[in-house]
Amino acid sequence: MYRDLALPFKFLIFLLIFSIVAMLFFAVAQRFGTPSEGVLNDPSPKPFTVVLDAGHGGEDGGAVSDSGLFEKDLNLSIALSLRDLLEANGIDVVMTRTTDTLLYDRDVDYHGRKKALDLAARRKIAEETENAVFVSIHMNAYPLSQYRGLQVWYSPNDPHSQELAEIIQSNAHSMLQPENDRKIKSATSGIYLLHHLKCPAVLVECGFLSNAADADALSSPDYRNQVAFLIFLSILEAQNA
Ligand SMILES: [Zn+2]
Repeated sequence: MYRDLALPFKFLIFLLIFSIVAMLFFAVAQRFGTPSEGVLNDPSPKPFTVVLDAGHGGEDGGAVSDSGLFEKDLNLSIALSLRDLLEANGIDVVMTRTTDTLLYDRDVDYHGRKKALDLAARRKIAEETENAVFVSIHMNAYPLSQYRGLQVWYSPNDPHSQELAEIIQSNAHSMLQPENDRKIKSATSGIYLLHHLKCPAVLVECGFLSNAADADALSSPDYRNQVAFLIFLSILEAQNA
């Protein structure tokens, strides 16, 4: 009988010693962790730079609304607001343009090539930016005027493009246009920049200038700020995803 009692007692002593040794081990491990632990546990994301691209410019006005709004001006207005929001939150931004201009070298023979040179220049800016996230701002237009709503395209070359596009499209629905059930679309070769860029890249068509209600909303600086704000929040959300 004594022997029977002794066994559980020995087991309890063993458990006690094991627990003390384990606690000591973890205390020492925490105090003198290996150098690699800091790197592995570092929660700070890799810094990135948003390359903001206001589509069109200068002699290329882009789409035009019946009321006379030019796409190039709305694109730049939203891009500048978005730049200010990003920079105020410590995110680096590179703009492809900040004025009403097309990007082509005036010293070369640009005749018939202005648009191609312009797109190549925008591509070069994105490719020369380290850890770039490319966000292009455009307006849509379609022969049938009933079509409306923000639409996001993404580059098929980096999976983060689709992720960011999904977040922007979903935030457009929840924050700005509850009736907008559009789905994101993968860019084909028709969208030169998204087709060629290897970094995360999206193109936001902020609305249809061929639709009177969209054009009217986009004519308001407040509405354009709201569009910039939802893209800004989406970039933050994608960063933390
Ligand atoms: Zn456009």
